[in-house]
Amino acid sequence: MKIPILLILLLSNYASLPAQDKDTSRIARVLSVDQLLAPLRYLASDQLRGRHIGLPEIDTAARYIADQFKMAGAKHLASANGYYQIFRSVISRMSPIFQYNPQLAANLPLGSASNGLTLKNVVAFVRGTDPSLRDQFIVLSSHYDHLGVTSPAVMEDGKMDSIYNGARDNATGTAAVIDAARYFARCPPKRSVLFICYTAEEEGLIGSEYYARHPLIPLDHTVYNLNVDNASYNTTHAVCLFGLNRTTEDSLINKASMAYGLALLDEPADEDLFDRSDNASLAQRGIPAPTYSMGITAWNGTITNRYHRLSDEVANMDMEYVVRFIRAYILAAQYIANDPNQPRWAKGDPNEKEWQILFEQNE
Ligand SMILES: [Zn+2]
Repeated sequence: MKIPILLILLLSNYASLPAQDKDTSRIARVLSVDQLLAPLRYLASDQLRGRHIGLPEIDTAARYIADQFKMAGAKHLASANGYYQIFRSVISRMSPIFQYNPQLAANLPLGSASNGLTLKNVVAFVRGTDPSLRDQFIVLSSHYDHLGVTSPAVMEDGKMDSIYNGARDNATGTAAVIDAARYFARCPPKRSVLFICYTAEEEGLIGSEYYARHPLIPLDHTVYNLNVDNASYNTTHAVCLFGLNRTTEDSLINKASMAYGLALLDEPADEDLFDRSDNASLAQRGIPAPTYSMGITAWNGTITNRYHRLSDEVANMDMEYVVRFIRAYILAAQYIANDPNQPRWAKGDPNEKEWQILFEQNE
């Protein structure tokens, strides 16, 4: 069949584009705006009632994520229970987390504090293409749980509400991981990619801590973790990296963000956000692991008006920004998964010693 002249022109034009533009147009082609936002809209809908541990809707969320992984063509691990890592956790009624998370006591079924709750991380992977790098995995992670429901309903932001939808925190991050699985299943990078949606982050990183203690891929084959989690945002011109200047991959993350018009900011001062999300669980074991997050220029009222509030909803988010945020996250992951050099901590980082114990004993 003859190739029309217009198509030849388009193809030659395409071939001369810089690599960055080829990547952004491929991401746009594989993930349309509607497809990309669908997991966020569903997970943050009232139907899922705030995805709180102890409520049946968190299992609905887990099943949805597993189905999305499967439909994308991401595989389940032989070491997992299908797409799940299932475990029991006992949450003591004496635990201080009840102070930070007052809904918890109300949302937990009777007896669960003593008998334990069944919790699920959702896990899938895509095999890398490079025979010399595919035994190294990068982890793309988010937590899919949130704060559930409160009773009675309260007035917030001009309406009566009882559901903590957690659209930013962290339906957005979970959508980013699902979208990354869809993209990398179609366009696998050199390294293998492990996708983990953690449970029970809001109760103190329970899901990621369990995973770090019971890894499904050996930790010395887990070379990097780009976690994604959000409080809120007060700029649409930037993203944050909790752990900026701490690993060797910042320039790649910056390049990916800039491709979408997003500057890369450090976390706001005095909030210890690096240690307050799931990245901390693998970071403590020596694995370079920052958290990618929507832009926070300062921890001000714009953030606290949404962070862990009933009004953290899709309706008051800038969806054009969310699309760029998710696409930039995927592009950053692709750059890191294709980086010929194994990611490391910056020289002198507090976690560098653990990295050396984990990786250099095998050399
Ligand atoms: Zn979160």
